[in-house]
Amino acid sequence: MPSESQEPVLNIRNLNFQYPGDIEALRNIDFQVNPQERVGIVGPSGAGKSTLLLHLNGLLPEKLSPSIPNTDTASVSIMGKSVSEKNIYQIRQWVGLLFQDPDDQLFCPTVEEDIAFGPLNMKLSQEEVHKRISESLCSVGLENYEKRKTMQLSMGERKRVCLAGILACQPSILVLDEPTSNLDPRARRRLLGILQNFEGCQIIATHDLEFVVEHCNRVILLDGGKIHADGTPKTVLSDSVLMKEHGLEVPLSIQWKMRS
Ligand code: ADP
Repeated sequence: MPSESQEPVLNIRNLNFQYPGDIEALRNIDFQVNPQERVGIVGPSGAGKSTLLLHLNGLLPEKLSPSIPNTDTASVSIMGKSVSEKNIYQIRQWVGLLFQDPDDQLFCPTVEEDIAFGPLNMKLSQEEVHKRISESLCSVGLENYEKRKTMQLSMGERKRVCLAGILACQPSILVLDEPTSNLDPRARRRLLGILQNFEGCQIIATHDLEFVVEHCNRVILLDGGKIHADGTPKTVLSDSVLMKEHGLEVPLSIQWKMRS
């Protein structure tokens, strides 16, 4: 949980969001995240997890419903800067967002072109761009994949290329939507290793509750667009009544510990 002595890297105040057609996706979301926190965002499908993550690098405009009170103070800010059009370039350098579906992220024909896109945009030298491509591919276990065609890769490989593209930009904050989906156990373990070596703050929406137990030090339970719990994985995920109420199950590793 955030301690008062640290400046939060992420500060969300009173965030509400509706999709067209009055579909309410987020309601009164209010929380802060400190540097180095690893926050798992959990909840059933349709809870609002992806919508929340998309706000963190300005992919969704704040649409404040006049029917919801107290929205005049609503804001999302990263390292003290509001996520708004005027700050968007800086915000996107700080925040590396991994989409749930790699096909929403990859758009270049080859792996190296895709990974180069961010670093080139940052006006880095050719030499530095090449260095970052090979280092980031190496860190996701895809050495020598530079010339491979992105659309011919397996789903797990595409996901890792997306992550390499993000790491190549050296962001301060990782925001990951379902990073372990479609990964086989070896790729999942490798991803866990990469994320454990990443020192910045991480916000991870996932159905993989064992991943949260292993990797996160905080968990936020979202359902119906609202926060229902915010605490350590051990406290939140071991509460069987709370979990059942929100269509989730206590992870097996916690169940075993509770029995022994
Ligand atoms: P989660 O990631 O937890 O599964 P989402 O953030 O994707 O939840 O969705 C939250 C709610 O918003 C759901 O009711 C979903 O149907 C709705 N929703 C998501 N994307 C859109 C969209 N582009 N247009 C309209 N409604 C959407």
